[in-house]
Amino acid sequence: EQPEDASSVSEYLNHVLAECGEDTSGEISEDIPAPGATDPALHALALVTADGSEYGAGDDEHYFTIQSISKPFVYALALDDSGLERVHESVGTEPSGEAFNELSLEGGTGRPLNPMINAGAIVTHQLVNPQPTDSKNNGQHTTSQSPDVQTRTARIVEGLSAFAGRDLKVDHELAEDEYSKDYRNLAIAHMLKTHDVLATEPEEAVRGYTDQCCVLVTVRDLARMAATLANNGVHPETGERVVSEGAARRTLSVMATCGMYDGSGRWLARIGIPAKSGISGGIIGVLPGQVGLASFAPRLDDEGNSIQGVEMFARLCADLGLHLMASERRDV
Ligand code: GLN
Repeated sequence: EQPEDASSVSEYLNHVLAECGEDTSGEISEDIPAPGATDPALHALALVTADGSEYGAGDDEHYFTIQSISKPFVYALALDDSGLERVHESVGTEPSGEAFNELSLEGGTGRPLNPMINAGAIVTHQLVNPQPTDSKNNGQHTTSQSPDVQTRTARIVEGLSAFAGRDLKVDHELAEDEYSKDYRNLAIAHMLKTHDVLATEPEEAVRGYTDQCCVLVTVRDLARMAATLANNGVHPETGERVVSEGAARRTLSVMATCGMYDGSGRWLARIGIPAKSGISGGIIGVLPGQVGLASFAPRLDDEGNSIQGVEMFARLCADLGLHLMASERRDV
């Protein structure tokens, strides 16, 4: 049934939360460092239309780290900062069919298959505010907190904030903790360096990428960020053009094919909108031109996607008729 006014929309979202909140299967990711340990009972849902009406339900003021949901937004920023050609030389657009933390590289080019897996996201990260290629320091290992890392992270936090329409912050304590255990991403970055797809030093890229993952958001922030993508890169409330139309469109395309890790094909068939998940339990979904959606519930399935979140999206997309491949769609 199509909700009509604000209270009935919120009521409807509460109803979806309650129905999907009974499933207590799955585990909270062990990769989230202890200080951010999350209460498994938390859950929230938010919806922002492309013309800026905002609705939330449940724990919609609870902060969590954005993790992999940062990847599409940073990809869009990289496209505008480095240009399509340079980005495309360094990271592909094919689903990997493997877990998000695999080193999935394309034979021949050595590029990561797509920007939604860690290998691709680490490359994408350093294409924001890129170093001029001639300033590569040959073999000189810079410290992980070099001015380059700080400038790039600041630009990324600014960019993510513009997507959200308010100032977001990095949880530095969590980021330190995550980085101190991040041997796997460091290994991936070192491999990327040997394939010549990383312009910066591996430590710099992973240090900055970790800060990027530790930006704190609420489900409402995520829904506004998703709505900015739905609205061709213009924030629906602030009116700011955050990324170009081309960058927004390409980002949504990659989300559609690769956003839900190796569950992406099943997701597109069942739920039918571009989406992105993260290990802290968030999911965003975008119906181009219409709406940005976000869910939060920390228990994950084996692919790393929030179990309750997937169910919430299934309900919302069916009830509101959002599937992109449907021939008729109701107005949201
Ligand atoms: N920081 C996490 C990592 O790089 C993010 C992964 C995720 O959310 N899937 O491993």
